[in-house]
Amino acid sequence: MELTLSTPVQFLPRVGPAMAKRLSKLNIFTLEDLLYHIPFRYNDYSVISPINRIRPGETVTISGVVTTMKNVFTKNGKKMQQAGIADHTGKITATWFNQPFLTNVIKPGMQMSLSGKADWFGHTLVFSSPEYEIIQSASLDSGNQAIKPDHQSLHTGRLVPVYPETEGVSSKWLRGRVAYTLDFLQTLVPEFLPDSILKHYNLIKITDAIRMIHFPNSPDDTKTAYHRLAFDELFILLLSAKIQRRVWESTQKAHTIRVDPTDINRLIQTLPFSLTHDQNQSLSEIIRDMQRPIPMNRLLEGDVGSGKTVVAALAMYASFRAGFQSILMAPTTILADQHYQTITKFLSPLGLTINLITGSTKRDNRGTLNSERNTKFDILIGTHALLSQSVVFDTTGLVVIDEQQRFGVAQRTILRNKTKGTATPHLLTMTATPIPRTVARVLYGNLDLSLLSEMPIGRTPVKTWVIPNEKRKNAYAWIQKQIEDTQCQAFIVCPLIDESESLTSVRAVTREYEILKNTVFPTYKVGLMHGRLKPREKDDVLEQFRSRHIDILVTTPVVEVGIDIPNATVMMIETAERFGLSQLHQLRGRVGRGSLLSYCLLFTEMEDDQVNKRLKAMETNLNGAELAQLDFTLRGPGDLFGTRQHGDIALKIASFADMELIKETQRAVDELSNSDPELTTVPLLREKLKTDTIATQQD
Ligand code: ADP
Ligand code: MG
Repeated sequence: MELTLSTPVQFLPRVGPAMAKRLSKLNIFTLEDLLYHIPFRYNDYSVISPINRIRPGETVTISGVVTTMKNVFTKNGKKMQQAGIADHTGKITATWFNQPFLTNVIKPGMQMSLSGKADWFGHTLVFSSPEYEIIQSASLDSGNQAIKPDHQSLHTGRLVPVYPETEGVSSKWLRGRVAYTLDFLQTLVPEFLPDSILKHYNLIKITDAIRMIHFPNSPDDTKTAYHRLAFDELFILLLSAKIQRRVWESTQKAHTIRVDPTDINRLIQTLPFSLTHDQNQSLSEIIRDMQRPIPMNRLLEGDVGSGKTVVAALAMYASFRAGFQSILMAPTTILADQHYQTITKFLSPLGLTINLITGSTKRDNRGTLNSERNTKFDILIGTHALLSQSVVFDTTGLVVIDEQQRFGVAQRTILRNKTKGTATPHLLTMTATPIPRTVARVLYGNLDLSLLSEMPIGRTPVKTWVIPNEKRKNAYAWIQKQIEDTQCQAFIVCPLIDESESLTSVRAVTREYEILKNTVFPTYKVGLMHGRLKPREKDDVLEQFRSRHIDILVTTPVVEVGIDIPNATVMMIETAERFGLSQLHQLRGRVGRGSLLSYCLLFTEMEDDQVNKRLKAMETNLNGAELAQLDFTLRGPGDLFGTRQHGDIALKIASFADMELIKETQRAVDELSNSDPELTTVPLLREKLKTDTIATQQD
């Protein structure tokens, strides 16, 4: 049978059903998966040494004849396999443990190559558990030591690939199967990039790249191979985004939102502040998009507190003036509720009907009220509870999704499909995750981007201090005085013990709450909030905090996202070292939202210098994007860009941090799709786009 890239691995010799099952744990199902199972490092066995020149501790390869092979017992009763190997300069012993079958594999007279580290064992130099390769089986004429000229070594005497392994699937085994498959490479993997791109971007042929990524002849080989494969990955991703976008634009219709600019400007005049330049700019980008008959797909990115909500509210107002409804979805009840209050205050005086649907409202109001809520509104605000509503929002002009990274592709798509009528609504997504433009392009190739990179003026920077444990008492006293003097309110955040808000975390925060309430701040009203509270209870607590019936709110990081209470000016964070800098920055963004001077106190009990250095960065740095970058350099790839995984998109080979390559690939994509938008000159590439999995990940 003819092998193709989609042939199941099971059709390879020496891969039975059992092996195929093990391989599936490595996500290897087809020959393509096997060929793209990229080594994560290489053992350098390229130094070939005569036996008498081996230095102890050296990693080398030797080549010689097996003189003896036997099973022996060590002093503590373990079975050891011991081979004598000789070349024309000398003799050495190689040992393995617990592989008795080796005596059937390695036999005196064989020509072998061995790679590994040699070390003293007593008085003799021994190769312990080396990689080995039989170069020529024992023959009667064992004096003939010539190596077969066509022999290509896989495990020794070269850069040897080391793969992600799983139980029962060793790198050695993988090497054999990869090498077997490589023999069919020319027919398996046709070149899908045109010559012009290969030349212009200095790329090697795909067959060479695949061969060299597995069996490089030099470290340079691995670099050029990587480059080609990473280029491919980004190229396919960016190109398919571009195509999807074109299809989208030519098939989807949107309501055109006709806006009278003076209308919007008049409303802007009523705000208690003037918009920043970036807010103005973003708003006009949004309005320009909404005026087209093609649905907008725009991401509004801005640091916490940069004022995304008002931009969204103005866009929803524009939709209202043009005669359409808007929907705003937020990730939590608290946020939905807060948006509801802010937007109601802002827009209901102008005659807009604003409704709220969250998990709790749905339970409260069944029947008629519920369906009225679902249809009779100008702006509908809610959590993902919106998604379970059966109504089709036909006259929706604009859908806004706040903190979009909290929702999956599926949820975002459902919301948009809900509004399926004759027209697709314009979509505005918002995020505070600082993503560089280049990275955003890979992640959201089919989105336009608006950035709020400046903070509203008049905002005083949040004073930040790292507080060592011995100053804890003083800090409490300081907070008390602060509340006394300025009638401000404070957050005290305790970290989650684990990712999900487990019972243990709740217990921890509850215990802390008891202590704070009863012994540290007995004269103040202390409130408690955590993720295990019912939505209604959360709302109650938050309402009490907002209306100043609570002075100090003890909470888990559920307050992280979006809460806006200008009178809260003190943010105290327990065990701050447990948080990433970005997360600390998001938490800090809960204060400093009014014109009052605000403070952030980072408590740590760690004396570790590295930890303190990291936290100290919070004292001087107030820029979310810079802190994210710093976190990345200090802690390695975290959950932001720089890793191969970001939200819904996982890169196998390229890295989000490789801005240069991203830019270069983008250029190649633009050039190709300008000169040949239908890809008629590159049928193999067109074919590849259809089958490639990564290309279909984007929404
Ligand atoms: P985020 O971008 O984090 O969602 P918000 O939209 O919640 O930020 O805005 C934070 C606070 O800043 C709100 O209280 C809002 O009223 C205020 N704000 C927004 N824009 C401005 C501005 N241009 N000048 C002053 N304050 C502003
Ligand atoms: Mg917000």
